[in-house]
Amino acid sequence: MNSDLTAYITLICTSCVFSLYLCIYVFAKRHHYKNIAPLFILHTLFTSIYCLGAAFGLMSTTLAEIKFWTVIQYLGMPFSATMGLIFIMRYLGMNLSSKKLMALLAVPFTSLILVASNDFHQLYYRAYEIHPELGAPFVYQEIGIWYVVQGIYTFASLFVAFIFVFSRWRETDKDYRPQLLSLLWGQLVPMITAFVYLLGLTPQGIDPVPMVLWLTSLFYFWAIRSSRMFSIMPIAKDAIFNSINDGVIVLDEAGRLIEFNQAGKSMFPQLYRNMFGWEFSKVWTSISASAFPLQLKNAPFHQEVSPGNGRGEQENTYQVHVTRLQDGQRHNGFLMIFNDITEVKKLQGQLEKLAYYDELTGIFNRRAFFQQCQQNFEDAKRESVPYTVLLMDIDFFKRVNDTYGHFTGDQLLVHVVKACQAQLDDEAIFARYGGEEFVIAMKGSTGSEGKNTADLIRSYLRLHPVVIEGTSLSVTVSFGIAETTEGKNETLHDLLNRADKALYSAKDEGRDRACVYREKARSV
Ligand code: GH3
Ligand code: MG
Ligand code: MG
Repeated sequence: MNSDLTAYITLICTSCVFSLYLCIYVFAKRHHYKNIAPLFILHTLFTSIYCLGAAFGLMSTTLAEIKFWTVIQYLGMPFSATMGLIFIMRYLGMNLSSKKLMALLAVPFTSLILVASNDFHQLYYRAYEIHPELGAPFVYQEIGIWYVVQGIYTFASLFVAFIFVFSRWRETDKDYRPQLLSLLWGQLVPMITAFVYLLGLTPQGIDPVPMVLWLTSLFYFWAIRSSRMFSIMPIAKDAIFNSINDGVIVLDEAGRLIEFNQAGKSMFPQLYRNMFGWEFSKVWTSISASAFPLQLKNAPFHQEVSPGNGRGEQENTYQVHVTRLQDGQRHNGFLMIFNDITEVKKLQGQLEKLAYYDELTGIFNRRAFFQQCQQNFEDAKRESVPYTVLLMDIDFFKRVNDTYGHFTGDQLLVHVVKACQAQLDDEAIFARYGGEEFVIAMKGSTGSEGKNTADLIRSYLRLHPVVIEGTSLSVTVSFGIAETTEGKNETLHDLLNRADKALYSAKDEGRDRACVYREKARSV
């Protein structure tokens, strides 16, 4: 055996041992690297088989032996390149469906079968013999069609893996770039060697790739040991971090900005990477128009914040969850998760409006009236001040509807409400009590003061007819008014009942008037 051959075999054996060592190393720690360990184990196992076949091939003396070890090589080589690509894709956070995985492995399987059965069809090698001049273990080969397919496929797998890693270069933090670099070199070494081999620049009759694969193993080993490639997986982490829809901001233990994700950037466009290291309160003042309303030291907590944009435009509302990042007993920093609840708040506001306000006129509805009034009424009792309620009903309103239609009726209702609002002070509680019936509650007012207000509303309506669709309409209203009787323990409902009776009298006595309830209701 010449000394060159011995050197080749030694190099190939080194590659075999290195990748086997890597394979066993990761297998032993597979529980720590659950996500990618199986792929890496397979990749290195196939590489070892490839190198083993290549080493024994070079120690063969007969064609039958050489062919046998070539098949063993093909048990490893084509699968190793494909597995390398799949491993890198998973490492970068790309997931492949099982169908796609099978499709990727179809070419290596075909190659294995074709190499094993090459004597029958010569599709892989048109000629495969002991080299006439160099002798065994050197081989004279003429490549077949599938050899070209597998060659391109192997090269493409290495190249695509290289491009995938390279494409993440810019978005990867500086600290993690050595990890990327080792992966890039891991792909480049066999790629360049295969390329040089295809150009015919390497020793004749020998595949040089297994001789350099120990370098790839070294790069990988360095990446795993020194930059904790598998346990940190920053690139996959980045992909996950940035795919979260909630804005995430990370602070260090002193509350300084150290990281944010893309959703965080979209929520707060003023957030820039050059703010890294800033105190969060300073960051917040820059990205919003307000001071941060929360104390980090109270974490964990959650609260709503409306940062505002300083231009007085509609503000977004966020639910922010702040938790402490703990590493065992050590406090490592803070995690802030911003959840955009602007739409939910809007909806909540709309629901509240629907629940408490009358849609047509915008004033309180009956439910809101009772909710507001009950407390107000009790307060008046406690303070021993009079309390007066006014029930107002539009006169002959049915006629308006019948004559001018429902739309005009609606407009008239709005007009009456405006007339009332023009005469009422802020203290009065004003609500739509029913269809065209309204209620006014006045704490601290007597019945006759209530009547004055009613008369003001009536005269306002008389003086201000409303023009709806070209028709001028004048409307009158009737009031029933009731005041609490001192020393009597009445309820709000008692008072409203009496006001209703007074209203009935007002209608009975000819409408367009205000009646204050007396023991026997009469017009005042
Ligand atoms: P009265 O002087 O005795 O009060 O006569 P009226 O015609 O006003 O009689 P009533 O109070 O019984 O009539 C209420 C009418 O109000 C019947 C209903 O069609 C109408 N109405 C109730 N709610 C609305 C509304 O939201 N829009 C319109 N356009 N009409 C309404
Ligand atoms: Mg009515
Ligand atoms: Mg009416």
